[in-house]
Amino acid sequence: MNTYTLSQRSLSNLNGVHQDLVQVVHQALALSEYDFVVIEGLRSLARQKELMKEGKSKTLNSRHLTGHAVDIVPLVNGAIPWQDWSAFESVSKAMKKAAYQLNVSINWGGDWISFRDGPHYELCREVYP
Ligand SMILES: [Zn+2]
Repeated sequence: MNTYTLSQRSLSNLNGVHQDLVQVVHQALALSEYDFVVIEGLRSLARQKELMKEGKSKTLNSRHLTGHAVDIVPLVNGAIPWQDWSAFESVSKAMKKAAYQLNVSINWGGDWISFRDGPHYELCREVYP
């Protein structure tokens, strides 16, 4: 256990996100080796279209549009270690463990093969359509 708490920014980015996923995020932070920040949750269609235009997303069917997804990044000495995959993987272990404990089915974008998305977590479509 650690003493990390979600920042105001993280909490406001959880607004409109499915409550089961919010619970997982809270529990994961307690289990996590690294502090982390929720950089995005619920997303507007306009923003999704922007991200596609910028090549940062591949779909208009994003789980962010319905509040079924969050983007989470580790914080190491106050910075986001974009080059350090192991820190993202560490956060994913905390998220998966928390999801397991709470019996919530999630997918991590880092496990995707075609477009590996380290910050991305979403509720399984099979369980949460
Ligand atoms: Zn995402």
